[in-house]
Parts: sequence; C-alpha cells; structure tokens
Amino acid sequence: MSVIDIHIHVGKREHLTEIFLNYFRNEFGEPALQAMDDLTPAKFDKFLQLEGVDKGVLLSEYSPEVTGVVPNEFTVEFARSTDRLIPFGSININSSVDTGAQAEHALKDLGCKGLKLLPSYGYYYPNDSRMYDAYEVAQNRGAIVMFHTGTSLFPKTRVRYAHPLLLDDVAVDFPELRIVMCHGGRPFWYHESEWMLRRHPNLFIDISGIPPVQLPRNFPKLERFYDRFLFGSDWPNFISIRSQADQVRELPYNAEIIEAILWSNAARLLEISI
Ligand SMILES: [Zn+2]
Repeated sequence: MSVIDIHIHVGKREHLTEIFLNYFRNEFGEPALQAMDDLTPAKFDKFLQLEGVDKGVLLSEYSPEVTGVVPNEFTVEFARSTDRLIPFGSININSSVDTGAQAEHALKDLGCKGLKLLPSYGYYYPNDSRMYDAYEVAQNRGAIVMFHTGTSLFPKTRVRYAHPLLLDDVAVDFPELRIVMCHGGRPFWYHESEWMLRRHPNLFIDISGIPPVQLPRNFPKLERFYDRFLFGSDWPNFISIRSQADQVRELPYNAEIIEAILWSNAARLLEISI
C-alpha cells in the first residue's frame, strides 16, 4: 500500500541551533546527527524507498530563536533530484520583505507546493495581520499552509501561539485556503483540532508526532472526518517511518480509511496521481 509522508525535515548542522542539536544528540546520538549531516538527496531517496514512502513533503523552517533556519532554497535544491520529495517553503514574519512577496517567491519562483509555519517558534499568532498577505498569495495559488499546533519539546518555544483555535480566524478570512494543523494540537488540544475539521471543510490534521495507537482515543470522530487526516512522520524525530505506517495499518478502521490516511487524502491535497 502506498504511503505519502507529509511531514519530513532535513537540515544540516549549519542550519540548526544548539537547542536542536543538543536535543537531537541526546535523543539519537552523535552518529545520527552525523548521518543527517552527510545525507545526500540520493541517499535519502533510497532511505525513503526502503521505508515504503512513495512521496514525501520536505519542510523548510524559519525558527532562528528555537530550532534553526532551513532555507527554502536548500529544501528546493535537496528535493530537485528526486520526484519523491515535494518542497514546502517558510516565511520570516520579521523580514523587511512583505510576507506576500516571500510567499510569491517560494511558491512561484522556487516551485514550493505549500508553506510550513511555526508560530510558537517565531513568536506570532497565526492571525497576525502581517501574515495575511502570505495567506492571500497561498490561497490564490491553491497552495497549502501547514501550521505547527500543540506543544513542543524544544526550550524557548512559546506554546500560546500554537493553539489550533487561533486558525479559526485564518480559515474564516481565507475560506478557500487549505490549512493543515500539524500534530493535531497535541497533546491537550485534540478536541479543538477535531472540532475545527467540522467547522472548516478546508482544514486537515497531520498525525505526525502522535503515536498512531492513540488516534481512536484522541480523535473519536476520525471515521466521520477520515478524509481530512494525513500521515506524517516528523522524520528525523521518529527514525522508522515504516513502523509508524504499519501501526496505522493495524488501527481498527476499515481499509478505505487507512488508505485515505496513508495515501489518498494527501494525494488529493498535493494533486498527486499514480
Ligand atoms: Zn515537524
């Protein structure tokens, strides 16, 4: 069964802050850090193939205060040599360049398919008016905007910016914009995230960072809104993508729902056909 992983990070040591590097070393050890530093697009393509991932969304990041800056240009360049990876850009809200122009550059000039934003690392509310130009551009271009929601392991995160209900304003003001709530507001805003699916038809939840076995408990209405849940690994935070996908396959849902989470919901969103 095919898999799309909508939530993958690749960054080099030079992109990452000490906060991230310390976390990563403690969690996975120096060899894993070195392996990521040495990662080439060809090696990663092979790795994803072995993990059973047919397509993956590769995320840029603009979080200089917390995790680091993985530039849009790096992500696009890394994804270029394989048709397995789909690059997403990021936005610097504090730049002198208007966020609309940044979005236009990422989506049009660089060819990103969407944007990934981390308000709790960048210290702004998702409904900050400075971001509205970027949302407008993304909506007009049919691009996807992913937001980190919920808590984070990293020091200096400010969680108040990561509440999923803050996306209500964005979804009301940009009704055609397709929005992904990464991590579904984990670990204490699952209910709010799920409620947002009912309220806004263009909202989605990416399940990255949530142990799949918890999905039925965390999202009791998943079967009703199954066409809005997306598989994501948050790699490299969980090394084995295959085992996470296998855990989804073992959930007590019918085959259509499992296939939708692992493949067809993201395929529809990203306009991928096989
Ligand atoms: Zn992530």
